[in-house]
Amino acid sequence: MAVASVVIPTGQWLAPDDGTRWWFDSGSAALDFAYTGSIVAEQADGGPRDDSGAGVELLHSLDNLIAWLAERFGSVQGAPRPGDLDDARGLRDSIARLAVASSLGEELAASDIDIVNLFAATPDVPPALSGGTRQAGHASVRTQQALSTLAREAVRLFGPEAGGRIRSCSAEDCSLIYLDTSRAGSRRWCSMQRCGNRAKVRKHRAKAASAA
Ligand SMILES: [Zn+2]
Repeated sequence: MAVASVVIPTGQWLAPDDGTRWWFDSGSAALDFAYTGSIVAEQADGGPRDDSGAGVELLHSLDNLIAWLAERFGSVQGAPRPGDLDDARGLRDSIARLAVASSLGEELAASDIDIVNLFAATPDVPPALSGGTRQAGHASVRTQQALSTLAREAVRLFGPEAGGRIRSCSAEDCSLIYLDTSRAGSRRWCSMQRCGNRAKVRKHRAKAASAA
């Protein structure tokens, strides 16, 4: 019998305009949530807009929200309230602004901290043991509980524990923000398959050019 603690899977598909989807694992469900909207893409270091596909609004409707949450929390039940979508976007945008500030080493805005704290203070998705006679925990997740769990994740993310591990991709033309969860703290890229390999290719070409 496994303990079903609330571990939220991370990562999601981003879809650039050219149609080549790629998997971006930000390392944190709260950061993944930030990447369902445009703020992280618009604010990040003001550089040229990259081709990552980040910055597209993924939460157009309550159905989009429920589907996004269900992929991480199992089925989301109970009638969602009309205000849930606005709540979710508000929390999401605050997390996004905090992520940008954090990656740049800037001060976190008190107004965004207030919003995260407000959601984190409400009941979250409870951990549950499997094997009981009643359906518990994940089977009855409500939207607001899921938002609370994401907010609590954000509290950990922007608290002292993660110190210095929220960074942006090392590639010049990419500003995606991630939480470095590697033991050595050595993650440099949004994705090895994407920016990591491109950097390798560039390095190889430069080497070949200077040898020629
Ligand atoms: Zn990158």
